[in-house]
Amino acid sequence: MSRRRQIYEGKAKILYEGPEPGTLIQYFKDDATAFNAQKKGTIQGKGVINNRISEYVFTRLNHIGVPNHFIRRLNMREQLVRQVEIIPIEVVVRNVAAGSISKRLGIPEGEPLPHTLIEYYFKDDALGDPLIAEEHIACFGWANNEEMQDISAMAIRVNDFMCGMFAAINIRLVDFKLEFGRIWDGDYSRVILADEISPDGCRLWDMTTGEKLDKDRFRRDLGGESEAYQEVARRLGLLQDDNGPSEVFDLSKHRKLRGK
Ligand code: 5GP
Repeated sequence: MSRRRQIYEGKAKILYEGPEPGTLIQYFKDDATAFNAQKKGTIQGKGVINNRISEYVFTRLNHIGVPNHFIRRLNMREQLVRQVEIIPIEVVVRNVAAGSISKRLGIPEGEPLPHTLIEYYFKDDALGDPLIAEEHIACFGWANNEEMQDISAMAIRVNDFMCGMFAAINIRLVDFKLEFGRIWDGDYSRVILADEISPDGCRLWDMTTGEKLDKDRFRRDLGGESEAYQEVARRLGLLQDDNGPSEVFDLSKHRKLRGK
């Protein structure tokens, strides 16, 4: 690891130069922060679980035609991804009121929103990632109109897909954060999904008990955060076999089981 050139170190991940031009290695740490890094800690095994969950989600998103940076998982904590020029916007998709929207607008946590809401935050730690309007994005040139159309369309597709994926394992997708980046081909660029999708950046509630299965366990000192992350991975079927990407439904295994 020390031989590789480190490109960037974030709160939960490190990016290293990849083996080919235009690639990076994304390393998942166990470190956890909350409230703009005022609260710091570690969640044992989080990096390993997030690497697997993110691989799973990005692979499936790729299958349904949501372009993203994921290439392949390399080992327990690392994945190979395409290098992108990160767009400095955090895209938050909300289905149910919780967290900052409840605080800001006084909507009780757990109240379903009349319709899915997309919010944008300016990615700037020093400013505490402030909420922004699309007008700010256009005004300061952080993304153009066409890119914003692609971003909002992809965010809705990701939400539709993930709502179904989590509902199938009795989890309610309350909200989540996405990041996007540009890839260049000569003078042309297109926007793809980047970063990670894991319980670090999603609110996931058990549909029966309402139990939180995400980073809010750490943020709110609820305890059991490692177990919650593991539970999400277990329900997704990611814990039995660590040899490679698991399939949602393995037809050949199913046929064998049925003696066909
Ligand atoms: P809120 O705005 O309510 O704090 O967060 C909304 C959703 O976006 C939550 O699922 C939260 O986990 C995610 N989110 C917002 N900002 C960040 C961030 O800086 N890092 C991570 N990991 N998730 C974030």
